[in-house]
Amino acid sequence: MPLGAAAEKRHGAPYWMVHRGDLHAALVSAAASHPDINITSGAKVEDYAIHRHGLTVQVRRGIDFAEEHGIALIGADGLWSTLRARVGNRDVPRFRQRTAWRSTIAAADVPPVFREPSVQLWLGRNAHLVHYPVGGGETINVVAIARDFREQPGWSGEGARSDLMAGFSGRTWSRHARDLLKLPAQWQTWSLYDLPALSQWGEGPVTLVGDAAHPMLPFLAQGAGMAIEDAAVLARYLAQSPGDIPAALRTYEEARRARTAKVQAASRRNGAIYHQASAVAFFRNIGMRLIGGEKLIARYDWIYNWREGEGEAPAVTAAGASGLPRVGSGLP
Ligand SMILES: Cc1cc2nc3c(=O)[nH]c(=O)nc-3n(C[C@H](O)[C@H](O)[C@H](O)COP(=O)(O)OP(=O)(O)OC[C@H]3O[C@@H](n4cnc5c(N)ncnc54)[C@H](O)[C@@H]3O)c2cc1C
Repeated sequence: MPLGAAAEKRHGAPYWMVHRGDLHAALVSAAASHPDINITSGAKVEDYAIHRHGLTVQVRRGIDFAEEHGIALIGADGLWSTLRARVGNRDVPRFRQRTAWRSTIAAADVPPVFREPSVQLWLGRNAHLVHYPVGGGETINVVAIARDFREQPGWSGEGARSDLMAGFSGRTWSRHARDLLKLPAQWQTWSLYDLPALSQWGEGPVTLVGDAAHPMLPFLAQGAGMAIEDAAVLARYLAQSPGDIPAALRTYEEARRARTAKVQAASRRNGAIYHQASAVAFFRNIGMRLIGGEKLIARYDWIYNWREGEGEAPAVTAAGASGLPRVGSGLP
């Protein structure tokens, strides 16, 4: 698919590959330059109590507990969200019997073809491999996802290369892909989970954003993208309705529900397509060739052409959010 300048022209914004640490650094630096934002790390939100003027949040720092008072609580606490259960969703994330193996390699250590500024995606039986340069081209990010029945919750389990290579056997995988997989000294593993769309995102002055609200499989590379969209939409509704926080939060939830559920479902479907084998994979490959890069990228326009405010409910009014239409039909 043509990315680079073509994607920028098509979608009105560049397509960037960014190392997670660099994205965090950019966000932290933006927050640090804002006089009204304080960041406290190492603090775990355990519970909250809603009262007439907002809420009290119970926070644990090591063995110490403290109470914080606020007018709203936004749970951005990820896949294993404490607040998701607290607002009424008892379902736990479902293990999808796949593990993501992640590592980075110095660009100088890989063949020149792997240093090119493009996303390279390899599809195979029960596995796929994706790699691309990050950090201004100095580092290659490698993610290999393979079928795996061992569940290991967490971001950074340690993976043995021999286990990884078993999913990328020489019988069906290209030597070039396998040679790349042999390069990293260390691998981190991440078992893959998702959840069906939530019925309840919040209550009163409490809501969820990102993986806490809509955990998804990484087959569309959209989890963090959706979290950032959530934040932009939420900020706008809060700014429009500072005197009625619960109404702003309910309107935000309605505005985001359909789009994030659609991306969750599309990610699941992509996973099934990526990991096909035999005849189905053969026809998938022929189909992709026939469709061609231009038309393939057009199939993702509904993701990348999203604009804040498109297809959303009208602004929150003083009367509150109840009765506002559900969003969905307006989405591309
Ligand atoms: C292999 C893989 C590849 C991916 N690739 C992409 C990609 O290319 N593009 C993309 O957009 N997305 C991608 N994603 C998805 C992306 O990583 C997630 O969607 C994203 O990290 C979600 O962000 P978040 O802030 O909602 O949650 P997280 O990033 O999980 O952050 C949650 C934070 O909350 C903290 N926390 C948890 N509980 C509490 C508590 N009780 N109190 C206080 N803090 C708490 C955690 O310590 C953590 O810091 C990928 C995911 C995987 C697994």
